[in-house]
Amino acid sequence: MQNLKTSTPDMPQTRPRIGEEVMCVQQVCRGFGKNPSEQLVLDDVDVTLREGEIVGLLGRSGSGKSTLLRIIAGLIPPTSGDVNYLGKPLRGPAEGVAMVFQTFALFPWLTVLENVEAGLEAIGVGPHERRKRALAAIDLIGLDGFENAYPRELSGGMRQRVGLARALAANTDVLLMDEAFSALDPLIRTEMQDQLLELQATLKKTIVFITHDLDEALRIGNQIAILRDGRLIQCGTPDDILHRPADDYVRRFVERRAGTTH
Ligand code: ADP
Ligand code: MG
Repeated sequence: MQNLKTSTPDMPQTRPRIGEEVMCVQQVCRGFGKNPSEQLVLDDVDVTLREGEIVGLLGRSGSGKSTLLRIIAGLIPPTSGDVNYLGKPLRGPAEGVAMVFQTFALFPWLTVLENVEAGLEAIGVGPHERRKRALAAIDLIGLDGFENAYPRELSGGMRQRVGLARALAANTDVLLMDEAFSALDPLIRTEMQDQLLELQATLKKTIVFITHDLDEALRIGNQIAILRDGRLIQCGTPDDILHRPADDYVRRFVERRAGTTH
């Protein structure tokens, strides 16, 4: 349990217990262009993800957040360093690790049920099993009764849930979300945060989410990782970030938040 003294007043109670190590990122560097080892977008990054953990990844635009998430997803390799998933080197996209894309990743011409099934079809699950798993996932995320609705008939938050259902139906253990909530209005956003925590409490997934919003990270993250110019300057609990900032940069980050909320 986190003990947050200066947390938001509606801090949810459901916090999962943290389990085994799932993903281990060690000394990861990543560059682009002609001399990738000289122009580093990620520089010597270490992160460990555990079962049941929600990690909020923060940093200014261009600090390397999306690049790190893509490496964890196995979509791009690091220039140097190691990524291990369940004790084995990660080489390309792994079953069990998936990006949850923003709402517009839904096919507008397919129903909710068909959208969730489409994700399963893509990984070779047969029709009968597809239907069963898709219905269970839709039920789980509270869209029961909307199976035959089309994305345009749903609110932003509901569409977002369809994206989540897709990942859950595929038995994903590690969910990666790149600013998945940023397009949602504040109320729906809080609702989605709660939903994520609820899922977490029952399913013990591992979630890494990128956000620009420190409050969001404090509210739902067990760990908060702060990137600056490709370097991970702090990875700690919300309590660490608030009360034991690693440097002035993090301190200013926290103070700015205090300045905007009071
Ligand atoms: P963030 O998500 O924190 O905004 P990114 O990881 O998207 O940051 O990008 C970090 C840096 O890497 C940026 O300067 C960006 O221009 C650069 N970058 C990202 N992807 C590529 C690419 N495919 N080719 C060249 N440069 C890239
Ligand atoms: Mg990004």
